[in-house]
Amino acid sequence: MIDTHCHVDFKDFNKDRAEIIKRAQKNLTCIVNSGVTLEGNRRVLELSEEYKKFVFPSLGFHPVNSSKSDQYAVEAVIEELHENIDKAVAIGEVGMDYYHVKDSEGRNRQEKIFNQFCGLAEEYELPLIVHARDSEEKAFKIVKKYKSIPEVIFHCYSGSLETANKIIEEGYYTSFSTMICYSQHHQVLAKEIPLKYILTETDSPYLSPFKGEKNEPAFVEEAVKKIAEIKENKFSKVDNITEKNAKKVFDI
Ligand SMILES: [Zn+2]
Repeated sequence: MIDTHCHVDFKDFNKDRAEIIKRAQKNLTCIVNSGVTLEGNRRVLELSEEYKKFVFPSLGFHPVNSSKSDQYAVEAVIEELHENIDKAVAIGEVGMDYYHVKDSEGRNRQEKIFNQFCGLAEEYELPLIVHARDSEEKAFKIVKKYKSIPEVIFHCYSGSLETANKIIEEGYYTSFSTMICYSQHHQVLAKEIPLKYILTETDSPYLSPFKGEKNEPAFVEEAVKKIAEIKENKFSKVDNITEKNAKKVFDI
């Protein structure tokens, strides 16, 4: 199994990071840790140095952060990205979040910055990890304009089935988080979307499959189990296919 989206660099793991990575190493092939800020991207790079071939870095700028940032902050993130691009397996997470950002000024800024990162994914021929919340259709339309991005992943996809179908028609991927264990909407989506377009993730420390607990990469197993159950498939088959998808997408 591969956890294709988590945030082990977050301070939530300051007290037990080594332990949690050790637990993940027991069960998982590797994890992809998405950076969300300038400092976050730096920490992700450090972790990927410490846990070579297990923690793979993706460098990005979360849309909730980007909506509040001035151009200098954006430029600093991009400069850092240019300098470390050879280490990154993807660009992201980036995108648009209309759930948290309601004002048009913030949304316009998100959109502009999202476009910049789409351009970077094209320039460096790297996969793009998209965060879209209440803005899936819009994010899809934007990313589609960048024809030479090699792979696009809608992380923790939560939009409509209609948009999901457009996403997979384009050859993009939808990633299912551990949220699928309790969210009926995600269960319906997983039933309809073919396995060849599915990746698995935890989005740790968020979206734990166990109520009241902090999520961690090892729990990605719960998402794989749930997808297998929904699709009436063997766990091993879902595990193999989703892992193969992830290896192909991130070239790992
Ligand atoms: Zn995330």
